[in-house]
Amino acid sequence: MTVIIHSARLVTDGRITEQAWIEMTDAVVTATGTGDTWRERTAAASGDTDGDGTPAGSVEVVDAAGDWLTPGFIDIHGHGGGAAAYDDGAEAIATAVAVHRAHGTTRSVLSLVTASVADLAERAAVIAELTASDPLILGSHLEGPFLDAGHKGAHTAELLIAPTPADIDTLLAAADGTLRQITIAPELNGGLDAVRTFSSAGVRVAVGHTDADYETTLAAFDAGATLLTHAFNAMNGIHHRKPGPVIAALGSNVSLEIINDGTHVHPDVVRMLFGEAPGRVVMITDAMAAAGAADGAYTLGGLDVTVRNGVARLDDGSETGGSIAGSTLLLDDAVKRAVTDVRVPIEQAVDAVTGAPARALGLDGTLGSLRTGFAADAVLLNSELTVRGVWAHGARLR
Ligand SMILES: [Zn+2]
Repeated sequence: MTVIIHSARLVTDGRITEQAWIEMTDAVVTATGTGDTWRERTAAASGDTDGDGTPAGSVEVVDAAGDWLTPGFIDIHGHGGGAAAYDDGAEAIATAVAVHRAHGTTRSVLSLVTASVADLAERAAVIAELTASDPLILGSHLEGPFLDAGHKGAHTAELLIAPTPADIDTLLAAADGTLRQITIAPELNGGLDAVRTFSSAGVRVAVGHTDADYETTLAAFDAGATLLTHAFNAMNGIHHRKPGPVIAALGSNVSLEIINDGTHVHPDVVRMLFGEAPGRVVMITDAMAAAGAADGAYTLGGLDVTVRNGVARLDDGSETGGSIAGSTLLLDDAVKRAVTDVRVPIEQAVDAVTGAPARALGLDGTLGSLRTGFAADAVLLNSELTVRGVWAHGARLR
């Protein structure tokens, strides 16, 4: 099956190309160009190339009519959607990823909130099976249990522990090579050793939910960490004498996750991050079950959460609620906000959900671009940046 999308404003690899077209055959981008030259490809793909009077194959032609065409979005940190959580097994995962896919996220890392090591191992094993059968699932992300209780956010304090070699082995074995990412507070006892062990096992290690200062964060990056989990949230902020993890990350060659939902971080601070870390800002959803679902009562990793006006907060008995508990963000909205509220160029906004996350995961040889040879993952957005079409692994999802 071949799909040609033409007359698009293509945004990929930090550039805009007007009047662009791409050709996708099965799971791969097989050609790109500009202007009317796509017509030759339809003749080649559908025409009677072998001279026996029958077409060689079917071609679907999509007229983008000047709309934006981008690589598929990659969410490296999210917990669920559509009233379902990634912690709750294969059926819940299918429900949740479907919501994100309809909003342009073609590849997802499935984040698990803190639980006991035994429960996490079981859940990571479920995701390992799904990763083997579904190319759109990139593996799991353990957000806990090796986190600081003082920066627990929406994680259960009693389940937070310091890393031990035995627990690390259990989790790595259960994930069976599909553990993509782990968030660690490096100041914990054994924290830096854990960073080394996970990163030498091929897992991307993120510093987060941490009390680490500037020096400890740098030590974690030295030990192999390459990411900062939702920059500014659940960590020490920027102080002129105590620069903290964000400044350490800006000065190191690491990626910085950001939740650009207008609630977690002020748009002007998001803009500062884009300016200070070009190509290294990764917009994530950190979405919980209420993303793409109604306001109301939810649970997150066993904690009660109330969602009002799309903002999820822990129930602490107060009128306004407690800590922010994940988001209800979808990546198309993050892109729209980056352009309209944060006011970064669309090339940078798109890079933060395509090329930058692919680089953060070390998958930038196949994902995050619409160059020839890359995955057939594409999103068509109208002039308001609302999703019009989604293709993933060559199949149309919306
Ligand atoms: Zn999270």
